[in-house]
Amino acid sequence: MEAKKAVRDQIISNHDIAEKFRLLADLLEIKGEASYKIAAYRKAADSIDHTPEPLSTLRQQGKLETIPGVGKAIAQKIEDLLDTGTFELLEEVTSEYPPTLRELLQVPDLGPKRVKLLWGELKVGSLDALELAIEDGRIYKVKGLGPKAIERIIEGLKSLKGRDIRIPIGKARELGKRIVQQLLEKTDKVEKIELAGSIRRFRETAGDIDIVAASEHPEDIIDTFCSLPMVQDVNMKGENRCRVMIEGGIQVDLICLPAQHWGTLLLHFTGSRDHNLHLRDLALERGAHMSEYGFKKNEQLITFSTEEEVYKFLGIQYVPPEMREDRGEIELSLIHQLPKVIRQKDIRGDLHMHSTWSDGKCSIRDMALAARSLGYEYICITDHSQSLGIARGLTPERIVEQRKEIESLNKELAPFKILQGIEMEVLSDGSMDLPEEVLRDLDLVIASVHSGLRQGREKVTSRALAAIRHPLVDILAHPTGRIIGSREGGDFDLETIFREAARTGTILEVDGDPNRLDLRDVNAQEAVDSGCLISISSDAHSIEGLYNMEYGVGTAARGWIRPQDVINTRPLDEMLKLLKRNRS
Ligand SMILES: [Zn+2]
Ligand SMILES: [Zn+2]
Repeated sequence: MEAKKAVRDQIISNHDIAEKFRLLADLLEIKGEASYKIAAYRKAADSIDHTPEPLSTLRQQGKLETIPGVGKAIAQKIEDLLDTGTFELLEEVTSEYPPTLRELLQVPDLGPKRVKLLWGELKVGSLDALELAIEDGRIYKVKGLGPKAIERIIEGLKSLKGRDIRIPIGKARELGKRIVQQLLEKTDKVEKIELAGSIRRFRETAGDIDIVAASEHPEDIIDTFCSLPMVQDVNMKGENRCRVMIEGGIQVDLICLPAQHWGTLLLHFTGSRDHNLHLRDLALERGAHMSEYGFKKNEQLITFSTEEEVYKFLGIQYVPPEMREDRGEIELSLIHQLPKVIRQKDIRGDLHMHSTWSDGKCSIRDMALAARSLGYEYICITDHSQSLGIARGLTPERIVEQRKEIESLNKELAPFKILQGIEMEVLSDGSMDLPEEVLRDLDLVIASVHSGLRQGREKVTSRALAAIRHPLVDILAHPTGRIIGSREGGDFDLETIFREAARTGTILEVDGDPNRLDLRDVNAQEAVDSGCLISISSDAHSIEGLYNMEYGVGTAARGWIRPQDVINTRPLDEMLKLLKRNRS
């Protein structure tokens, strides 16, 4: 990683050079410079972006002026950029205006003239500054801005800011699936379609929804897509891509190309940006320029119909989407040492779910049948324990009753196996909600710190540690207690928790509920690095909830968790032997 950084620092990339010219063009436009000059800088920026060879190489060969749109004057600026990271005109303009001023050009209804006005009168030089000027009413004092115009600027800023709000992955993925389904109902010309971007990488939140499709008729697909019932607004529409707004102001991008481009198309829009930039560097080493269309080499376009072929062309191992964050995965795949991370097919059972015995919506039988049809060999029913009154937590007496039901179902459904577990409250003083003799009769116990998460670090941590040190607690559920987008987790000392879990053989959970994803990716990785085993579970409260497993697996894969790190990839007998209660 260090070596790579050093190289990047040394050589300014073509893309970075292009961006400098775009910045210059934007600022000159605000300044009121002649439009042909501005257009010339933008044109040069575009062709620099599409030049496969590094500009430093072209310069050595004296070939800078062979780039379309680059004449003598711009070539000189490029030379200065390569030597010093800047050039005179850029310095001049950025000393007059802050580089963040160009952000304002993104606001609908805010053209260069008005941006100049806002800067001249109020020294508003960024989106944040604009928001402030609206909040404290200074914007109304700008001469030359009428109340109507201001209203439109406020609206524009709102819609722009709205796009910055990230939505939890569960919601983004569900909306994405729904809109894809609507499209497929309206056309049979789609050959392939996939949710890409953060959703495909199972990031816990998504900024927007990216969809890629393959078809021989991209224009038809784009037309159909823009007229779907879910679409509220069409922001941009071209022949093979469009950007629309759906409910809640969520932005959806669709890109559609013929199927021979599928490999690079899917890769390009899956990201992450850093992963792709790194791949682009590898492609350049092979003299190829990479885009969503394919690789351009010696004026020839090489296309790939699968992502696997793209990675093969680059001479590296295929990287699963969840790992594409440029956190060292490319370095490892270059030397064919990429770890094989967990996949959904590795999961043999689900160890955390609720039934109508507590706050679940479905009977144990229905949950078991649904889990069996998903291909699982076993499940563990873990209803809440007595102290969680709102969830109708189980008393010792009801646990005995539930046992009878599970035993008779096991006779009916064999060889499928239903284990009886419990999700036991760790009380606010650190004691357990059920006595040892009750816990001993269960097949498996998971412990949860649900209440008192706002206690101080020492206090919450000591409660988790009490559970971990308990001989009959096998798994610690959703260890931080966070709810994505609404509640931070407790202030747990995770390092100590992981160390103690490893020492005592307590398993840590990756809860797949898309609102929890707890442990999160990096924490799960730390836990495994500390020597802990992981359990990935759905925490389902209904049959549909069983599909939460996909989010759990995606999160674990983001943390580079391998099947052997996960307890419920094992056949039942092996899994049971790994539980603390069954170890001698
Ligand atoms: Zn819970
Ligand atoms: Zn639960």
